[in-house]
Amino acid sequence: MAETIIPKATAKRLPVYYRYLNFLANSGTTKISSTELSDAVKVDSATIRRDFSYFGALGKRGYGYDVNDLLKFFKKILNQDRLTSVGLVGVGNLGHALLNYNFRQANNIRISAGFDINPDLAGTIQSGVPIYPMDEMIKQIKDQQIEIVILTVPIDAAQHITDDLVKAGIKGIMNFTPIRISVPSYVRVQNVDLATELQTLIYFLEHYGPTLNEP
Ligand code: ATP
Repeated sequence: MAETIIPKATAKRLPVYYRYLNFLANSGTTKISSTELSDAVKVDSATIRRDFSYFGALGKRGYGYDVNDLLKFFKKILNQDRLTSVGLVGVGNLGHALLNYNFRQANNIRISAGFDINPDLAGTIQSGVPIYPMDEMIKQIKDQQIEIVILTVPIDAAQHITDDLVKAGIKGIMNFTPIRISVPSYVRVQNVDLATELQTLIYFLEHYGPTLNEP
C-alpha cells in the first residue's frame, strides 16, 4: 500500500474498530453497516465512513462493509503504524545493551531517545539513538510523544526520575532497578530484576535440581 497519511484522530480509533471487527469475524459475521458499527463502538457513522475512506474502504450502498476485507486493511495499517517509540533512562552497561538489542526485528519497537546525567554521554548518539541530558527529559518525552520508558539507572535515582517521567505523561515503565518504584494508578510498571531472577534460578537449581528431576 502506498503511504497513507491518516489523521491522528482516525489513527486513534483504528484499534477500536480493529478489536470489534475481530470479534465479529470470530463470531462468523461477514458484513456490517456503518450504523451497526457505530452503535457497537460508539463513534458516529459519518465519522466511521470518513475514517474508512482514508484507506479506500468505501462500503457498498445497501450492503455495508465486508468484515474480512476491513480486517485485512486494518492488520496492514496497524502493523505498519504500530512502531512503538520507547525512551531509555540511564545509558550505563545495561542501557547500552538494550540500545544495541534489536527490538524491532521481532516486534515493532524501537528505542528512539536515551537520557543520561553523564555529560560525556548527553548530546552524543549511541547505537544510532540520540542521548539527551536529564534536564531535557520531560520536554523530549512530551515532544516525541514517548509513552513507555525503560529505566536502567542506579537505585538512588530511580524514584525521583520516575516522578519526572510521570510528570512527562509516561504510561508505562519497564523498571530494571531492583527497587519497587511508586507511581500513580494510571501508570503501569513492569519490574525486571535480572540479579534476583538469576539468584532464584541458582536457588532452585541448588535446592531442587533441574525440572527433569521433579516428581
Ligand atoms: P548498569 O547498572 O546499567 O550496568 P553501570 O554500572 O554502567 O550501569 P550505573 O551506576 O548503574 O552504571 O548507572 C547507569 C547509568 O545511569 C549510567 O550511565 C549513569 O550515568 C546513569 N545515571 C546515574 N544517575 C543518574 C541520574 N540521576 N539520572 C540519569 N542517569 C543517571
